[in-house]
Amino acid sequence: MRFLIFLSLILGICSGTGAAPTATTPVKNRAPLASTPYTLLPLTAVKPEGWLKRQLQIQATGLSGHIEEIWPDLGPNSGWLGGTGESWERGPYYLDGLVPMAYQLGDPVLIARAQKWIDWTLNNQRPDGAIGPVKDTDWWPKYVMLKVLTQYQEATGDPRVIPLMERYFAYQAATLDKVPLKEWAIYRWQDEALTLFWLYNRNGDPKLLELARRLHDDGYYWPNQYVDFKPLYQGKVTGKDCTLKTHGVNNSQALKTAAIWWQVSKDKADIDGLYNQFKVLDKYHLLPNGVHSGDEHYAGNDPSQGTELCSVLETMYSLEHIIAATGDAGFGDRLEKVAYNPQPGTYSKDMWAHQYDQQPNQVLVSVAKRAWSDNGPDSNLYGLEPNFGCCTANMHQGWPKFIANLWMGTKDDGVAAIAYGPSRVSTTVRGGVNVTIAENTGYPFRQNIELVVSPAKPAVFPLELRIPAWAAQASVRVNGKAAAGVKAGTFLKLERKWKQGDRVEIVFPMQPRISRWYHNSVAVERGPLVYSLKIGEDWKKVKDRQEASDWGVAPTTPWNYGLVFDGAGLEQSFQVEERPIGEYPFSPEGAPIVLKAKGKRIAEWQIVNDSAGPVPQSPVQSASSEESIVLIPYGAAKLRITAFPEVK
Ligand SMILES: [Zn+2]
Repeated sequence: MRFLIFLSLILGICSGTGAAPTATTPVKNRAPLASTPYTLLPLTAVKPEGWLKRQLQIQATGLSGHIEEIWPDLGPNSGWLGGTGESWERGPYYLDGLVPMAYQLGDPVLIARAQKWIDWTLNNQRPDGAIGPVKDTDWWPKYVMLKVLTQYQEATGDPRVIPLMERYFAYQAATLDKVPLKEWAIYRWQDEALTLFWLYNRNGDPKLLELARRLHDDGYYWPNQYVDFKPLYQGKVTGKDCTLKTHGVNNSQALKTAAIWWQVSKDKADIDGLYNQFKVLDKYHLLPNGVHSGDEHYAGNDPSQGTELCSVLETMYSLEHIIAATGDAGFGDRLEKVAYNPQPGTYSKDMWAHQYDQQPNQVLVSVAKRAWSDNGPDSNLYGLEPNFGCCTANMHQGWPKFIANLWMGTKDDGVAAIAYGPSRVSTTVRGGVNVTIAENTGYPFRQNIELVVSPAKPAVFPLELRIPAWAAQASVRVNGKAAAGVKAGTFLKLERKWKQGDRVEIVFPMQPRISRWYHNSVAVERGPLVYSLKIGEDWKKVKDRQEASDWGVAPTTPWNYGLVFDGAGLEQSFQVEERPIGEYPFSPEGAPIVLKAKGKRIAEWQIVNDSAGPVPQSPVQSASSEESIVLIPYGAAKLRITAFPEVK
């Protein structure tokens, strides 16, 4: 009997089923790495609740939970399972989302499914330290697999992970002269640096920082690209000018480069480079949905251009690390904008189908040659593998990593709300006290958030709250008493003795606001949500694969509206209506909030090259009569106008 218990313990540890204790304490940077304002929490510290949990369940019952049955590249013949099939980035991409999703949902079927892949990698390290499919000699897919292993180790404590990484990095350091970084690996080295830091913070081996420096020296230092941003890069790039430097996903991964390298260099010039990078990319390529264009390469500010799903996800992941390194609340506003708008907007409501490219002004989803920089004719279909399968493999990481990073640890052993959404965080704060905070909210569809703080025993520690820049009238009350120092665009620090059941009530009043875009067009935002014209949608099957079919969407109602603003002011121009947060919040019929506005049709604004033609320069004249129009959250509108002409 005793032997059986012992055996099952061993098996439990070796199969990673959670027999080993899971730590909840964030592991901060170890010197000489720079001390960062915030530190990511171990994977299982944050769990989704409310509508966000439902959203993750939608993902798990959609393509993410069935892809191995449907898509051969992630089937049993994958090179990452020892087969002869796809042996490059697709297995690691998938696991980078499957692992966090499985553990956040605590779903034994998904956990076992992920384990099969993890075990193959852990059990098949070669004597020289190499990992992954033998036939793949590219360093890049391993960057992703290493990120997967950090999350898996945090969730399970599996004792095999760290020794495997140590052997792998020793192998890489000894091999780089012979097998240098090439292609993608040159431009994405910062993703491996994150894992090198992760391991260094656990084992203190200075060789890991030497390897990080080697990757930096051999790789491409992105911030330099934006110092004198080439005129060629300042609009849509096509033909032979499309390179790995103008590639949309590379640029999204690159956003975090300076924030990561600064942790080694501690040079303020790197942080200046980070801000300059955003300034330049925003000027030439930002779209009103909060992401930069890239269809497949830089595509300018026209809202009929597209952004690839992988870019949306990598922008989110970059922002999560940038906030940790800089502590700048503004990056949290950006993160929410991307997570809550272009991310859901590019999936079908049930998350079975995704687009390769989404458009802020998206009035027709069909197979047609569009004015992309160089993507194919099926790029904006909602489907299994439109254009190219990278997004099919990579789409699983968005929600799980966003959920994991809603909360972070603070430099002074507290906890910080980085982004908001219904969730529960359990972590260890100052003095080793365990604390759980329940976040009850319908955010971003609602403006009220309640936190219930439950430390294991009364304890003094800081709780930091991000106050969005748009929340000028924000208020925070602790046990009914107004907190002082609430300032939009900063973190509010509440340092006090917290005890079981303390309540923090937050109100972020959400007033409609407008921002100016291409051709002086206007976008409507309210809180973290961007609002788009609700257009009647006719979904037509382009290719039948049961649930995993490809779909086109045609408009059944007019889309060519300009907005008419009430002379009394902006707020009077919109009527806000709250509706229940139902089964599918990111669907036109399920939108939990709508804005009613006034519009006029602009007769000359028509479809050009199967997309909405260039937005007429605002202000525009219209002889049409005024009509009531409905705006819904961008993420709910699969056809949409987001950049509107303003009618004078
Ligand atoms: Zn992709």
